[in-house]
Amino acid sequence: MRMNDLAVGIREICASFDDDRTRMMDIVQTVQAQFGCVSSEALDLIAAATGVHRVEVESVVSFYSFLSNRPKGRIVIRLCDDIVDEMSGMRPVAEAFSEALGIPFGGTTPDGQFSLEYTACIGLSDQAPAALVNDVPVTYLSSDKAREIVAQLRKHGDPRRLVHRLGDGNNAHPLVRSMVHNSIRSKGPVVFAPFESGSALRKATAMSPVEVIRDIKTSRLRGRGGAGFPTGLKWEFTRAAEGEPKYVICNADEGEPGTFKDRVILTEFADLLFEGMTIAGYAMGAKNGILYLRGEYAYLRALLEHLLEERRRKNLLGAKILGHAGFDFDIRIQMGAGAYVCGEETSLISSCEGLRGDPKNRPPFPAQRGYLGKPTCVNNVETFCCVARILDQSPGWFAQIGSRQSAGTKLFSVSGDVASPGVYEYPFGVTLRKVLEDVGAESPTAVQIGGPSGQMVGPADFDRTICFDDLATGGSMIVFGAERDPIYVAKRFVEFFAHESCGYCTPCRVGTVLMRKKLEALLAGRGEADDLSYLEDLARTVKFASRCGLGQTAPNPVLSTLKNFRDAYDKLVRPRVEGRRPSFDLAAATAEAEAIVRAQAGAAAAY
Ligand code: SF4
Repeated sequence: MRMNDLAVGIREICASFDDDRTRMMDIVQTVQAQFGCVSSEALDLIAAATGVHRVEVESVVSFYSFLSNRPKGRIVIRLCDDIVDEMSGMRPVAEAFSEALGIPFGGTTPDGQFSLEYTACIGLSDQAPAALVNDVPVTYLSSDKAREIVAQLRKHGDPRRLVHRLGDGNNAHPLVRSMVHNSIRSKGPVVFAPFESGSALRKATAMSPVEVIRDIKTSRLRGRGGAGFPTGLKWEFTRAAEGEPKYVICNADEGEPGTFKDRVILTEFADLLFEGMTIAGYAMGAKNGILYLRGEYAYLRALLEHLLEERRRKNLLGAKILGHAGFDFDIRIQMGAGAYVCGEETSLISSCEGLRGDPKNRPPFPAQRGYLGKPTCVNNVETFCCVARILDQSPGWFAQIGSRQSAGTKLFSVSGDVASPGVYEYPFGVTLRKVLEDVGAESPTAVQIGGPSGQMVGPADFDRTICFDDLATGGSMIVFGAERDPIYVAKRFVEFFAHESCGYCTPCRVGTVLMRKKLEALLAGRGEADDLSYLEDLARTVKFASRCGLGQTAPNPVLSTLKNFRDAYDKLVRPRVEGRRPSFDLAAATAEAEAIVRAQAGAAAAY
């Protein structure tokens, strides 16, 4: 490409975003889509157009795993390598892709046609092994399918033509055309219930904003992301905070391995979600909403934009909504680009501002100073759906569903060793045993509740209830059968956190690597009894000293397995034989010296 073409193209792209540096995520993603990568020359051109230093643009591009400053293949195959995919046969699929393309993972074919990469969870654990081919999800992979995919792509070069059968519901919509299935296994009365577009918003606007917030408080709705902060209180703080304009952001960046319920809501119930966001805008006096959509769900974007247009056409978005003077609210979609840490609300705000997804210090909280320094309310997808249903039905109706401390229902993404993986809606307070029966979990020995940042529990906990005051969860549930090793699973989860750590603070950046190495040593038979207390101390230090939620929860796989699967650890630590430390790897320590001796011996023989 000629430099002039690049310069003209980038000037046009930047101008289409008003040369606004806070739209950097959109700018660099558009540049990459058009020119294959954000090259060194592109970095300079973007910096000049948006009036920032080149380093700032470069720091954004280098932060997100879906962005690159080097050319990649025209087709990028990203194979999900999370634990559920591994359990479902990901390794042979990986070998088949690698063999068929003739490149290792991380490589690009010499003709520049294909790149092959691993990626963390892509929200398809219910139909694993799965991969993204550019933006196109391919599911239920096998070695044969991997070879067939490569053969087809070599023939026609179009990932969209890999979709030979369409999934159910809106997966078959002309704007989606995906092979993904919704896998809705059980419908509850709140999220997966019939809903008439606009009905909740009409009821909300018949009240004052303060009355709407009062209703949300009366309903006892708590945020569905896992922490469970009372939603009405968050709205009250945001409304009362000084500063204009105010913002409403929906966190649609579910990245926790094993989580995929938001994918289903975004596919089938996005109108309910947008209605909840609009009600939030009315209640807090915000005019702008942002849906932060994870890059892995880019295949849903056209459908979501279409639904937003429909709502504008029906006067459910835009100016003077439903004829109410002064009630103006609209929603834009901000694409993420493959960074797990952006699921943390302050990192997500950084990303929306066109920056690296670095977490921010709290206080001030987003309700006081969030997006662009203004009062901002961040709620997740499921929370906004509950809001719309509360306004549509009544706060009392919602409050009587569920348990004493946890009103309403919860969606669970269930995967792993079960007969029926998929999304289940249950009232809070359901026992884990009931869920395991319903999902067809035969002889489960461990369940990861709430994804890697949650906790792993064993059979002794199966009669506990799922709610904020007992087993709290953002919604992911991975079931492990008798043949799985909980310590190996913990190691895979810690590996995930080590990879996703943004590196800002030492306890998280270094601590996750140290935990991973210690678990590897234990699994390799190089463990000693005092390693377990070291591991526990290390995990507690990382939890205590890390800056954001990622580092504070990264030790959970270690701490919960040490607590609930102590026997498995005890089997891995050998009593110390006097004079020898099993943790010392003699073969590894002498490998280099042996190689030198072998090389010298070979040279001497040749001489
Ligand atoms: Fe980054 Fe981890 Fe520190 Fe969070 S805890 S700021 S992810 S290094």
